[in-house]
Amino acid sequence: MPELPEVETTVRGIAPHLVGRRVLKLIVRQPRLRWPIPQALRRALPGQKIENVERRAKYILAHTTVGSAVMHLGMSGALRILSADTPPGPHDHVDWRLSSGRILRFTDPRRFGCLLWQKSGTTHPLLAGLGPEPLGADFDGDYLWRVARGRRAPVKAFLMDQHVVVGVGNIYAAEALFAAGIHPNRAAGSVSRARYARLADEARRILAHAITRGGTTLRDFISPDGVPGYFEQELFVYGRAGEACKVCASPVRAVVLGQRSTFYCAKCQR
Ligand SMILES: [Zn+2]
Repeated sequence: MPELPEVETTVRGIAPHLVGRRVLKLIVRQPRLRWPIPQALRRALPGQKIENVERRAKYILAHTTVGSAVMHLGMSGALRILSADTPPGPHDHVDWRLSSGRILRFTDPRRFGCLLWQKSGTTHPLLAGLGPEPLGADFDGDYLWRVARGRRAPVKAFLMDQHVVVGVGNIYAAEALFAAGIHPNRAAGSVSRARYARLADEARRILAHAITRGGTTLRDFISPDGVPGYFEQELFVYGRAGEACKVCASPVRAVVLGQRSTFYCAKCQR
């Protein structure tokens, strides 16, 4: 599943090819993705100039003056810029024909991704109520500490809650908690302000690093469990159950927490 770093890398890759171009035509070969591609988008998008492209959580937004295309890569989706004569494969569901002569192609074998429409001046329900961006200016330890007051949920579930902060997936939550020395099962409300400062810093550092590494190897080496290959050898706990902790050599433990596999070192994390 593409995580925040892969989505950010996708945005950085496609944005220069989209911004300032017009969408001449939309070719929809399969309108049923996770949700049907809305008629409103099919009517409104052709003819529009793309003003800006940005990532919000794991959504990709292409803004025009009349509204924005809201895309999600789901489990297996990809967006690529190709020459217009590239023959479509069986999972190439949508092409945007661009005024540059190229196409933006959406490919998604499992069809858990989406292409939706947000009318100008409105917020799509999927984007409403999302927490701040982990790499943005309004995310830090004090913010986490404030929001965590009185919360009994495990700190890992808290960190992965999209209302608290967006885009910290299972891999990155496990690694940030290890780097900050915080046990994933500790109640969110019992983590000190100082430790939240460390956790926020580590989450930012790990995500930013993954984005940098993803820039050159985008999605070429995704292992079956979704861990980008370039990142795998740098993981401290994720996916390493039974292996020696890289810091203290105790075996890394795995438990299921909130239906997700959770990896941690019982000695390094309290
Ligand atoms: Zn350890």
